[in-house]
Amino acid sequence: MNENLKILVQLQKMDDEIMRLSALLEILPSEIEQSSESLKSAKGEHEGFVSEVKDKNKLRLEKEREVEGKIAGMAKAKTKLPEVKTNDEYKAVLAEIENMKNGINQLEEEQINLMEELDESKEQEGRLKGVVGEEEKKFADIKTVKEAEIEKLGKEKEECQKNRNEFAKQVDPQHLAHYTKIFLAREKKAVVELLGEEKEGFCSACRQRVTPQIAVEIRAGAKILTCPHCSRFLYSPDPKKAQNDSMKAGGQAVAGAQSVPEESPDTTEHGTP
Ligand SMILES: [Zn+2]
Repeated sequence: MNENLKILVQLQKMDDEIMRLSALLEILPSEIEQSSESLKSAKGEHEGFVSEVKDKNKLRLEKEREVEGKIAGMAKAKTKLPEVKTNDEYKAVLAEIENMKNGINQLEEEQINLMEELDESKEQEGRLKGVVGEEEKKFADIKTVKEAEIEKLGKEKEECQKNRNEFAKQVDPQHLAHYTKIFLAREKKAVVELLGEEKEGFCSACRQRVTPQIAVEIRAGAKILTCPHCSRFLYSPDPKKAQNDSMKAGGQAVAGAQSVPEESPDTTEHGTP
């Protein structure tokens, strides 16, 4: 393969690696965030349950005070009994006392139910607290691992970027200018493969076909050629096939290719958008 084309292929590979690392670096913080969501939800469930228990305790105390009030009321009503004059009045006070007694029984039953519920809730609260502990541990572990990964990948990316910038100095300035223009304009792909087999002669990026002559030249790998449709540099990744095709081509002159000759600066932009 043409040395300059090899360099361009390598430059694209280096940029691909930088993009791969960038994508990972973008995903990793969201993975930490996702794990913190599970912890938040476990904490929320525990806190919600604790506040429910608190409300039940409050209700139990209210009922206790209500019982105390009714007991005091009953005692007061009983003191009225010796003072009553008529039979009806006596019956009315007795009914009042009976009423309060029933009320107390009812409240005491409710208190017992609440206390039973509160006893049972201790177990549930312990379980939810355990889940929070587990999630806290899980989150801490994930955070440690992911943060270390972020640091490692960050350094790796920095190193790749440095190497890439250094490597780019080897690239012919005109090729580099075209590469940069296409890289920025076309989904960060400036150097792509020419497809083989069923998709013989198709540009792997824009999925359009180049002429058979261009395909043969690309397979031969001697020249730097661009796709007539998307202007990306095209290369053949299959050197065996390239050899066969170039033999078949028999060294004939090829017309119509979008050529970027290395020596002639005037024709660099030829066939590029
Ligand atoms: Zn193309």
